[in-house]
Amino acid sequence: METFGELPADAASRDYWAAQRRRLASPPDGGLNIAFEAVDRHADGPDGDRPALRCIDGRGMVEEISFRQLAVLTNRFARLLQRLGLRPGDAVFTLLGREPALYITALGALKAGAVFCPLFSAYGPDPLRTRMAKGRCKVLVTSARQWTRKVAAFRNALPDLEHVLVVDDPWGQGAPGGTLDFGRAIEDADPRPVVPPTTKDDPALLFFTSGTTGAPKGALHAHEAVVVHHATARGVFGLAPGDIFWCTADPGWVTGTVYGILAPLTAGATVIADREEFDAVRWYRLLQEQSVAVWYTAPTAIRMLMRLDATAEGRALTDTLDLSALRLAASVGEPLNPQAVLWGKERLGKPFHDTWWQTETGGIMIANVPGVDIRPGSMGKPLPGVQADVVDRRPDGRIVPVSAPDTTGILALRTGWPSQFRSYIDEDDRYRSSFADGWYLSGDLARKDADGYFWFVGRADDVIKSAGHLIGPFEVESALMDHPAVAEVGVAGRPDAIAGEIVRAYVTLKPGFDADEALRRSLLAQARQRLGAAVAPREIVFVENLPKTNSGKILRRELRALGDGP
Ligand code: ATP
Ligand code: MG
Repeated sequence: METFGELPADAASRDYWAAQRRRLASPPDGGLNIAFEAVDRHADGPDGDRPALRCIDGRGMVEEISFRQLAVLTNRFARLLQRLGLRPGDAVFTLLGREPALYITALGALKAGAVFCPLFSAYGPDPLRTRMAKGRCKVLVTSARQWTRKVAAFRNALPDLEHVLVVDDPWGQGAPGGTLDFGRAIEDADPRPVVPPTTKDDPALLFFTSGTTGAPKGALHAHEAVVVHHATARGVFGLAPGDIFWCTADPGWVTGTVYGILAPLTAGATVIADREEFDAVRWYRLLQEQSVAVWYTAPTAIRMLMRLDATAEGRALTDTLDLSALRLAASVGEPLNPQAVLWGKERLGKPFHDTWWQTETGGIMIANVPGVDIRPGSMGKPLPGVQADVVDRRPDGRIVPVSAPDTTGILALRTGWPSQFRSYIDEDDRYRSSFADGWYLSGDLARKDADGYFWFVGRADDVIKSAGHLIGPFEVESALMDHPAVAEVGVAGRPDAIAGEIVRAYVTLKPGFDADEALRRSLLAQARQRLGAAVAPREIVFVENLPKTNSGKILRRELRALGDGP
């Protein structure tokens, strides 16, 4: 297994990334394409018959797709897009679970030079519409059910949307009106290889962040991001052809696409695609039955597994579990408490390796890499090539690393890493203001200890993380503001031992409305219908006033401090 090993003190150099770039199949002076690196380079070589994908459904049925098969399927999809008139840079969206069509669409779209954007499949109509409009979705691939229930009604409000491909056909009557049948269209398409039209700076991936302070940001990445995907697949996860890799993140988030699809495939690993939602017992079994070698998950799931392990029933299961294939377990998304790291070591035989990155960074930047001692509770150290530091912004605009160890400051990265986001679509000012004096400012606060380990402190703004989903208060508030009874609403997370946080809305009412149970139910129902159950608030607290800044903005941090309400 290859790893980054001992981390050099200051390894961030163009030379380092240039060396990583040379490990890819495309010659450095030619074009660059993520899908080509993820699929075709393996398909044409000795690993062509290895499984790229292993899709597992709720009944345990396994469907395997080899690299060679995936190459042909993605050729077909790329050529289908070309035939439909798609031009490089046009956006292809998915609203799908972890099923073969998701992988074929993502990789086929990249091959065709399109921008791929995954949507979180539990979103309701409003968040879907906002993102599809903002990302100028031209082609959507989804299921018949998602289409009819959530999207069809606003199709005409999306001027850019030209084609909808529908994956399953539950009624056996062909795709719904105005859509194409995905399976049939793929079958009819030309399977011959395509020459990807892209270079390293062409746009490739669009991911929406959680939208804490306003509408969600659409972070755009270029094909050059694959340099980091590949370097981290090898260096953080030690992946090589034949390894079984399981990333549990939903494909709608950056992790679910970068590490659920792209990065492991560039290393020739086999990706486990679990079509079901979280279930502690099933997850334990999957780890064993699929001989998972490297597992990438999130603190909220780990907490649920720990909870089950604390019961007699859970113990009986974990005591007999054979995880001898498991080489590495890693975590991302929110702070990982030291207890979880140690629990992994004790009960699963492997400590969790925490990793830190963001939608904007496009790949892992800080991690507890194999071969370096883990400090439980720490995110680890910056990867080679990544110059991260804890900094202060001086009044004159200069960015200065804090000098004393263990001092809290802004977690910042020296600009110029290959998977750095290239824009926030339609938000140039916001994009520019994330950079200063040669640094990218992450919006997170951290400390660095005397040995160079980074410790997460908190985030400058306050997104809510509930059961692994990232939820922006603004969007939830907007959905409730539409209710006739609501005067004002502020949304914040309430700490919860299992979900991490639970979404709670603090609502002030218009005169003439009573803060009673019927109204509470009506608000909850509206929010669920508009936002989807994963995003909607679980609790509503009626209040007289909301805390505000001088400029009139709701102070969500103070809402959180209100606890059970005044
Ligand atoms: P928005 O930018 O809209 O507020 P977001 O920042 O929540 O959305 P992501 O880019 O997916 O959306 O999340 C990245 C953030 O998640 C990090 O900035 C950090 O706050 C948190 N995070 C990620 N990994 C870790 C980690 N290992 N420890 C602590 N926090 C983490
Ligand atoms: Mg962010």
